[in-house]
Amino acid sequence: MAAYISLPTYLNTIDARYRLVGQKCRACGHIRFPPKPACGQCGATDFQGVQLSGQGEVHTFTIIASGAAPTEFDDLQNMTGEFAVALVKLEEGPVVVGQMTDCDPHQVEVGMKVVAVIRRLYEQEGVIRYGYKFKPVR
Ligand SMILES: [Zn+2]
Repeated sequence: MAAYISLPTYLNTIDARYRLVGQKCRACGHIRFPPKPACGQCGATDFQGVQLSGQGEVHTFTIIASGAAPTEFDDLQNMTGEFAVALVKLEEGPVVVGQMTDCDPHQVEVGMKVVAVIRRLYEQEGVIRYGYKFKPVR
């Protein structure tokens, strides 16, 4: 089964997907990513955009075996086999999920320093979708 993200939704969230633009709550200062309608800390709905560095560290991770990923990743798995997906704690605070890239999935470790990079994710509705993945900082 595929995780469907409509093309309009994808295009409306390009800043977050390509540039890692998060939200800073004007009421309490909480920084969140990805953007949501209300602050998770205080419920306020007034934000300013904040450019995140993409730097962080692996909080936890799992390895997705061949055949276990959503179907939009079939092409990727046919090329690379299993891959790691990590929860990454960004240096600004938010914890985000992303695929690991440019590394052997079995080399991923909790606490590993990583940085976000833009990579091809998959193709859907005839459009190649790009977004961030995390690669180790060596
Ligand atoms: Zn807030």
